[in-house]
Amino acid sequence: MIPELDVRRCNAEKKYTGELVFDFEPEQSLVDIPYVSPDGPVSARLHYNILEDDSVEIAGTLSFALKGLCSRCLKETRQVVAGEAEGYFIPNGNGEEDYAYRNGVIDLREFLRDAVLFLLPARLICSETCTAPDYNEEE
Ligand SMILES: [Zn+2]
Repeated sequence: MIPELDVRRCNAEKKYTGELVFDFEPEQSLVDIPYVSPDGPVSARLHYNILEDDSVEIAGTLSFALKGLCSRCLKETRQVVAGEAEGYFIPNGNGEEDYAYRNGVIDLREFLRDAVLFLLPARLICSETCTAPDYNEEE
């Protein structure tokens, strides 16, 4: 489950920083590598920091597994992907690249979707020694 961050309540309780640790099921359609799909949930370990103007920094790490066929030799394989995620949330938005949130509550879904997309490799390779040519590479 993807939690919401209730900024109003955090402010009322003076919890300006904290941890968000949770797992969630990624959308299958996020992975566009042929014959590859997510294997199990994405694990998120995030830290939030509410600033004086109610903008919120959220940063941490995500990890998840991919499984399917090697993009070179078509052997069944599985790979763990892990990396950093970082977002900046502005109340009611500023029309720029940051995320907007409304009514004092941050919905993390769009941020997490973007973060998973950013971490996805272009292809799944069974091992560093796999030397078969990419089957989907255009010559
Ligand atoms: Zn391979």
